[in-house]
Amino acid sequence: MPKIADYEPIVGFNTIEELRLLAGKLQGKVIQNINSTAVGGGVAEILNRMVPLLQELGIDARWDFIKGGENFFNVTKKFHNALHGKSEEITPQMFEIFMDTSQRNIDEVKICGDIVFIHDPQPIALVKKKTSMPGSKWIWRCHIDVSSPNKQVWDFLTPFIHQYDGTVFSAPGFSQPLPVRQFLISPSIDPLSDKNKELPQEIIDKVLEKYHISNDKPIITQISRFDYLKDPVGVIEAYRLVKKHIDCQLIIGGGTATDDPESTGVFAETQEAAGNDADIHILPIPSGSDVEINALQRASNVIVQKSLREGFGLTVTEALWKAKPVVASSTGGIPLQVKHKHSGLLCHSVSGAAYAIKQLLSSPEYAKRLGENGREHVKQNFLLTRHLKDYMLLFLCMYHPEDVVYL
Ligand code: UDP
Repeated sequence: MPKIADYEPIVGFNTIEELRLLAGKLQGKVIQNINSTAVGGGVAEILNRMVPLLQELGIDARWDFIKGGENFFNVTKKFHNALHGKSEEITPQMFEIFMDTSQRNIDEVKICGDIVFIHDPQPIALVKKKTSMPGSKWIWRCHIDVSSPNKQVWDFLTPFIHQYDGTVFSAPGFSQPLPVRQFLISPSIDPLSDKNKELPQEIIDKVLEKYHISNDKPIITQISRFDYLKDPVGVIEAYRLVKKHIDCQLIIGGGTATDDPESTGVFAETQEAAGNDADIHILPIPSGSDVEINALQRASNVIVQKSLREGFGLTVTEALWKAKPVVASSTGGIPLQVKHKHSGLLCHSVSGAAYAIKQLLSSPEYAKRLGENGREHVKQNFLLTRHLKDYMLLFLCMYHPEDVVYL
């Protein structure tokens, strides 16, 4: 696993020194992260790297999970969709199921953090345990864009949110007015992880071979969990429009998250939409296949993220870091990453996505320039070292009520 010092050639000496300085001010504090899954999706992705690096910096960072059954995760998935603004039928029984499982976790999860860092809505009710650890500071980290949430679900969550000492959202436009301090911290990727590190061409070729993909035609790729909001069927429709003009192939690769019960159905629908087109590769990718995902992204000519709604969209960050030209929906955190016609192309529909893909495939020089700009944008804004610094400042802020941190 990469060490803090390994990031110096990428981000410079001063950035690393600053991290060490901040970490020194958090000695003796336990930072307890809690979420609902160890694998699948952006939150797990970030914690997998953030926690060991905080530990290496000498901070007692820990990572715990809540437990839930299928019923609970069915409900939290509906809440997730509804908070993103998707129309969902929410019933009183769902709130009961949510509270039953939450109560079990309140009884079972041991709170040990000076700072308890709760990720997303699934474990939000644990804040009822705040008094079990006197003096503890509780932060709710919301990765969802809740700018137009389903009111029923948002109203249900707000009494919990109000008990926190701070909240974190990924971007200014994502949040709601709250009587609790709000911090805006965008997520990040780890440039040295298996998912993002440089790869020799032999490995890229081997992965293509493993999945029976040749590189004799341009490759368009979307890597995402099989989730309606990632719109894999829309990606296939866009590909078909492109294919009328340019012979190309499509990879839709992804796995499932343990807290997402809908993915099997979405996978089946995606396969059905693909039909028997031999140039469409629907790849079920097991968790832990980071080098494979890296290789598939690097083998691609264009990376697509045609989400209907999005949190931050780490797959876009990953693609840009690899200097890939990206076509992505203008939703959630994507416009923060893709500046239209500068670091990629934004789209708003199937036909818009197809038009943009065609443009990139037929103008390789333009595509290359967008990719290079994208890499620089990620380097400046969305690498793990910036995120580590923001989180440490956030933790320190919890002890400075006037929002001032003295370095
Ligand atoms: N990812 C993965 N395997 C998959 C699908 C996605 O490892 O099968 C990773 C992907 O590379 C990215 C993260 O999960 O790092 C997804 O984050 P994003 O913000 O794009 O979407 P989320 O899944 O959190 O909605």
